[in-house]
Amino acid sequence: MLLKGKKALVTGGSRGIGREIVLAYLQQGATVWYFDLAQGDSLPEYEQLARANGGKVVFKAVNVSDELAINAAVEEMAKTEGSIDILVNNAGITKDGLLMRMSTQDWDDVITINLKSMFMLCRAVIRPMIRQKGGSIINMASIVGIIGNPGQFNYCASKAGMIGATKSLAREVGSKNVRVNAIAPGFIVSPMTDKLNDEQKKAMYDQIPVARFGEPAEVAKVCVFLASDLASYVTGEEIKVAGGLGM
Ligand code: NAP
Repeated sequence: MLLKGKKALVTGGSRGIGREIVLAYLQQGATVWYFDLAQGDSLPEYEQLARANGGKVVFKAVNVSDELAINAAVEEMAKTEGSIDILVNNAGITKDGLLMRMSTQDWDDVITINLKSMFMLCRAVIRPMIRQKGGSIINMASIVGIIGNPGQFNYCASKAGMIGATKSLAREVGSKNVRVNAIAPGFIVSPMTDKLNDEQKKAMYDQIPVARFGEPAEVAKVCVFLASDLASYVTGEEIKVAGGLGM
């Protein structure tokens, strides 16, 4: 087991990619706290897996745009578990539209939930991680934060921001044995991408060298790697999990 005894915090863990990250971490023996708007249907499955692998799972209803809720829940986790070894900033939203028609609200919502949340969560865990002289932070960016995408001005800005912030924090805390990396998924089948129409999906598909969309579990495997000691000399990276898209 690669994460035996580790304490992990995953945002947006109720469904989609976050659900697979929670499952993979529990499979590897970790204790997982997940923050989401709602508990989702997966908790019984999580609990079973936690029992089977000697870990534990805890759900907290935390909106990642709510600074007070984040700080209170992180403090509770640190007190209860004694440490926070892994943070995965995975919760995210899209509010797509061409720039000329994008409302300020849609800009603010996407920047707040995707980018500002990462700032608030990193800040909340960084002291405990430095104190315990170790930790791994994984920020779920996107391939479009690197290559851009029409209709996603706000989303691409948020994801590019996450990549820049990842590198900045990696430089700040590298000597404290805290590693900070970003993952840039390509097109992954999930409730987020289910919303796209066939034309949008075809346009993406045509650019993917492996000629298929990715599965959430394929992103979760890279999250296991980055959280584990297998990645002990990996920091400040943005790792594309995109089937060759954007290479
Ligand atoms: P998803 O299926 O929409 O899941 C996102 C999760 O985050 C949901 O459980 C959602 O809860 C939760 N969430 C949304 N807003 C939240 C908030 N304010 N506070 C707490 N939780 C919140 O998306 P996904 O496809 O799994 O994406 C996960 C991450 O990967 C996102 O950051 C996304 O940008 C990134 N990503 C995805 C793809 C892709 O192709 N799918 C590609 C690149 C990057 P509700 O269900 O209650 O809204």
